[in-house]
Amino acid sequence: MRRGPDPRITPLPPVPDLSAGSCRQPGADPDWWITGSNTREQREAARAICRRCPVFAACETFALTLPQSDHGIYAAMVPHERERRRSELRKAARAAAARRPSAWQLNAAKDVCSHGHQLSGGNLVVTTNSRTGRPRRACRECQRRWARNSMRLRRLLDRKAAARQAAVA
Ligand code: SF4
Ligand SMILES: [Zn+2]
Repeated sequence: MRRGPDPRITPLPPVPDLSAGSCRQPGADPDWWITGSNTREQREAARAICRRCPVFAACETFALTLPQSDHGIYAAMVPHERERRRSELRKAARAAAARRPSAWQLNAAKDVCSHGHQLSGGNLVVTTNSRTGRPRRACRECQRRWARNSMRLRRLLDRKAAARQAAVA
């Protein structure tokens, strides 16, 4: 029976066609692109060739999918530089995600709040999110209800505390 791909295994990304790469051309010594097999001068020469390579962009994308154990130089990057680049990209992705409006903000941009009150005219409150500095839309009716409920809750707790004290005395 034919079985589909195992969902536990992450498929490897497709390998791009790098046959036009400068490192594949006659005269280029492949050892220059292997860290540990090259000298410092050869490494720098390999990097300089990479920077002028016609398939640099495809090679760079591919390089970032390689494990750190791969000793090759790709797109002018040695293994620890690839790792640093990956970390920078992850950080940039996290920062971009933080800049995106939250689900709460998106909901507040609707015409009615989650309790069905119209978000317009006097019922619409626009404040500034202290963390992001972005404008935030809120429902005045919900804010009032929340304040009333908290006040009721506080009175109830105060009454219970007073009753407990009276019982003890
Ligand atoms: S960027 Fe460098 S490693 Fe990649 S194909 Fe070009 S020369 Fe080869
Ligand atoms: Zn509301």
